[in-house]
Amino acid sequence: MSLTNLEIAELLALSGEAAEGHRSKAYGRASRAALLWDAEAADVVAAGEPASSLEALGDRLGARVEGWLQDPPEIEGSPPEKRSGFSTYAKALSELGDDPDWTHPEGDLQMHTTYSDGQASVKEMALTAANMGRSYVAITDHSQSLKIVRGMDEAKLARQGEEIARTNAELEEGGVDFRVLRAIEMDLTPSGEGDMDPAALEDLDLVLGSFHSQLRGTEDQTDRYLAAIQNTHINVIAHPRGRKWNLRGGLHADWPRVFEAAAEHDVALEINAYPHRQDLQPELLPAAQEAGIRISIGTDAHDPSELRFLPVGLAAARAAGIPRDRILNFMPREALLAWAAG
Ligand SMILES: [Zn+2]
Repeated sequence: MSLTNLEIAELLALSGEAAEGHRSKAYGRASRAALLWDAEAADVVAAGEPASSLEALGDRLGARVEGWLQDPPEIEGSPPEKRSGFSTYAKALSELGDDPDWTHPEGDLQMHTTYSDGQASVKEMALTAANMGRSYVAITDHSQSLKIVRGMDEAKLARQGEEIARTNAELEEGGVDFRVLRAIEMDLTPSGEGDMDPAALEDLDLVLGSFHSQLRGTEDQTDRYLAAIQNTHINVIAHPRGRKWNLRGGLHADWPRVFEAAAEHDVALEINAYPHRQDLQPELLPAAQEAGIRISIGTDAHDPSELRFLPVGLAAARAAGIPRDRILNFMPREALLAWAAG
């Protein structure tokens, strides 16, 4: 019996907790990287490649992982909440295989550019997504109250809108059937209010709202979600729980009640496909399916290479039986725009 990348990520995280200083940090980095590897480490090693060829494993951690693969250690108990309910990129790829129904999404609905904390321009993100076969992306840079990620105020959002219009015109001239949607990831206060002038939001194609503060409490946060769902400017609640691999478990709520309200107000909830987020996470999706809510999938990419992670969200939705017609990413762009404007 061999180890999956998820088990290796858990072993690396546990080793990081037992180590100190830079060694602990190296284990933490490797644990995070294991969720992103595009092949199972066991298959890489079985094919004769060293484990050190995998991202973030140097020679020392590579040897450690090879030792675990040869003689898998017992992992006692279940992982803590900050590491439970995760899958991996390699697993998502193998689950989706070449299923034609699930490997050709129209769009990717969350990503960042140099207008906030992303590494690439609007055009670089657009061209990479177009080359992957997408027909649209939503550019969702952060809003102004998130100073730490250089969030946009209304004036910067307007400048970005001009750049998006230029990019769309260039793509059209070049005969590329692709469109960049104007969107934002608007920060929401714990009482569900946004931080942008509603007039500035009127010009956008899609508005994501998300919580970035007070994410560590353990008490029930149902009211926070109900308030956000009733905020009429919001189309999608992004990374609803705010959880992150090996960092925090995320917010708690009465999820069936939240899903019922989302269905009633026709607000979509996101499956954030970035492997360190996976939020909503797989085990909440059957209840989301039952409530019939719309789902939005976004890679939350901060550079072009991270656009590859959409399958993590697609595999989770497919496994939960969410019909494709409830997933925004499969809507033709005109239908998506009409829904968001409605
Ligand atoms: Zn965010």
